[in-house]
Amino acid sequence: MGLSKDLVKRALTTVDGPSGLDLVTGGELQWVAACDGFASIKLNLPDDTDRPAMMQLAAECDRAIRNEAARTKEPVEALRFQFVDHGGNTVFSTGGGPDDPEQGRTESQPAQQAASPPPSPQSQANALPNVTHVIAVGAGKGGVGKSTISVNLAVALARKGHAVGLLDGDIYGPSLPTMLGLDALEQSVIDNKLVPYAVHGLKAITIGKLVEPDKPLIWRGPMAHGAFNQLITRTTWGDLDYLIIDLPPGTGDVPLTMAQSLQLTGAVVVCTPQKVAQDDAVRAARMFQQLGIEVLGVVENMSYFIGDDEKEYDIVGRGGAEMMAQRLGLPFLGAVPINTALRANSDSGEPTRNFDGGTAGGDRLPKSLEKLATNLESQAALAAMRGGSSKPTLTIS
Ligand code: ADP
Repeated sequence: MGLSKDLVKRALTTVDGPSGLDLVTGGELQWVAACDGFASIKLNLPDDTDRPAMMQLAAECDRAIRNEAARTKEPVEALRFQFVDHGGNTVFSTGGGPDDPEQGRTESQPAQQAASPPPSPQSQANALPNVTHVIAVGAGKGGVGKSTISVNLAVALARKGHAVGLLDGDIYGPSLPTMLGLDALEQSVIDNKLVPYAVHGLKAITIGKLVEPDKPLIWRGPMAHGAFNQLITRTTWGDLDYLIIDLPPGTGDVPLTMAQSLQLTGAVVVCTPQKVAQDDAVRAARMFQQLGIEVLGVVENMSYFIGDDEKEYDIVGRGGAEMMAQRLGLPFLGAVPINTALRANSDSGEPTRNFDGGTAGGDRLPKSLEKLATNLESQAALAAMRGGSSKPTLTIS
């Protein structure tokens, strides 16, 4: 059965929180993910809680979980505790034992200062040793918002203080020149290497700036392999916490090339709520799993619509992608509404405006995007802790 969400919750009912009630009843326990002896636990404490108090509580929780696991004879590999504020942002994280690269790390200390994560299963080669987490974003088919989610995830992670790169791996239909507003910029090359564009707090590279605009991009298998590999290896990325790769839609040569040449932390699958979209997304998730790439989670894009009256309208079957994720035993990273400003900001190449809250629904769009990034951070940390142990079954609340 292994270390499970229920076991962790049971253990935390024996630890008192600041409210005087136990951490589960008092509501401080926000989220648990557990698998293969690893568990990641999120706690929300009052804003004035200081670091020593958080460390002490983490130690008490650690003891309680290990005692409960010992009682039921479940092995424990590592436990990680994240303390989050009311917006879901991590303020402090600890746990995982003395070798945990994230031990005692705060949001102001980027991940690249920590040790590299253990290798992922799909590749022994690693073309990007200075990147902590390589995360691919895929979708079963085009038009579901894969590039939009890639861009906004990258911007949201950068806004949290991470060093983030964004690679337009959609070599058949690159969207990043438009979505990042690169049209007027020139690709710079130094010492035969591509220098990524420094825009919106990110480092970005796209094949769209290396080919003639408006010309169809037709690649045969080996050419696609070569084009993708060159974008990866001939770009001066420097040290990154996250590299987000926007893949072409569907299944094909590029994911295969990627799996062969990179150690990925995992992949994100973007899906819209409709049943027909889910079927394609299931195929994409299966493709990643067949390549030995862990699926870190599913994003439901265009989940619902916020009207000018500020009400939420379910027009495409809200929750469909979340149910699909549950069915496949995959984490659900969150839902993003249909928002006309999001479309307009993509067309005008101004993704940071999606975070200013000045659109229909106020802060609901920025909140939904920030939540995606927070959940992805947790899933990436959990996957790196597992260090590529094969085919996990996650339980998540
Ligand atoms: P894909 O990469 O899956 O082909 P895109 O990210 O290019 O899809 O999105 C397709 C179109 O839908 C773009 O015009 C984009 O601006 C728009 N779009 C994507 N997500 C949303 C959303 N949540 N709300 C409004 N428009 C969206």
